Amino acid sequence: MKTLFLIKIGEISLKGGNRSFFEKKLKENIKNRFRGIPVTVKNRRGRFYVETEEQFAPLVQEGLSQVFGIVSFARSFEVEKNMESIRKVSCRLAGEAARQGAGTFKVEARRSDKNFPFNSMEICREIGHDVLEAIPALSVDVHKPEWQLNIEIRDRVYLYGRQIKGPGGLPVSSAGRGILLLSGGIDSPVAGYLMAKRGLKLDAVYFHTYPYTSDEAKQKVIDLSRILAPYLAGLNLFIVPFTEPQLAIKKKGPEAEVTILMRIAMMRIAQALAHQRNAGAIVTGEALSQVASQTTESIRVTGSFTDLPVFRPLIGMDKEEIIAIARKIGTFETSILPHDDCCTLFAPKRPVTRPKYEATREHYKELCLDEMLEKALNDAERVYSRVENLEK
Ligand code: ATP
Ligand code: MG
Repeated sequence: MKTLFLIKIGEISLKGGNRSFFEKKLKENIKNRFRGIPVTVKNRRGRFYVETEEQFAPLVQEGLSQVFGIVSFARSFEVEKNMESIRKVSCRLAGEAARQGAGTFKVEARRSDKNFPFNSMEICREIGHDVLEAIPALSVDVHKPEWQLNIEIRDRVYLYGRQIKGPGGLPVSSAGRGILLLSGGIDSPVAGYLMAKRGLKLDAVYFHTYPYTSDEAKQKVIDLSRILAPYLAGLNLFIVPFTEPQLAIKKKGPEAEVTILMRIAMMRIAQALAHQRNAGAIVTGEALSQVASQTTESIRVTGSFTDLPVFRPLIGMDKEEIIAIARKIGTFETSILPHDDCCTLFAPKRPVTRPKYEATREHYKELCLDEMLEKALNDAERVYSRVENLEK
């Protein structure tokens, strides 16, 4: 038996002349998401159709809810283009819904094929009437139905009940590539998720300060990138050995500016990696005034060391809002594991909250870190997280 999912796309369908570009990316991403399992993907007139063997349906359902660009999807049934066939399958689906506890229903019909001899109103009326007769446990509620039967008359006829929400957004890779600064904390995985949602393909970079930060801290970041991978269409994580630059900053930089100087060094490496990887943006998990290095003045200084746009999707969010997303995408539990990151370990007791723009830039330049940073990036370890399609 085959299972068919009908997929609705939102914003993509508004893209006018660029629509086919976005549709092509989405199709590629859906295919890649299900590599290794038998799936066919088609798109026709603003709808996508994914067909698989019944045994893989739960896996495909889970996967579709992670592919950006999908607004909603539903398990659907393709029937012949006549009222008799529509009636038969409608009554069967309604019967199933009633057995699962639905007491009220409504029929919603869309006819894009105007040659079909009944219009949407007539279809709703006829089929609604037939369902009522066949399934006495159901009654009609057009305002708040517990179950809705959807009928789409297109080049073929599709029937479906419950619609499942997709993640929305735009297909990953439709907005080019970005470098995500991924620490083990709560914020940066959420920042990566949100930018991927707008179509950015991401590579991640983690600055590792061994032995000041432990192997467990590094493993935690690898685990986070594994959790993010299904949303991000796979993820390369670059683990940069950061101990030498960190110690140099600690030794030679003004004590109160250590964190911000370290942030600048991170930006420089992220920018160099962006050039290597053909990325056009940097992404961080900063939120305004969350800590000393995230004030307006601090962000101005760190941002001035790259000419790439720095996307900070959490900038206007409260911690509670960020945590809600972290829980939803499954990173929260891993993020709160108690392994320190380098920032807390090397943080000065009284960090500057309003660094002086010119002076701090000068202090950074005096450290002459360029060569050391170049070496650190060259020595980076690369860990790839692919999307796993394991049967449960
Ligand atoms: P997070 O929860 O993402 O760690 P945070 O609230 O702890 O953020 P900071 O530690 O000040 O904030 O870090 C701000 C941002 O800088 C992070 O969101 C992340 O993008 C980046 N960052 C910080 N430390 C690292 C690191 N060791 N490796 C890579 N990126 C980092
Ligand atoms: Mg942190």
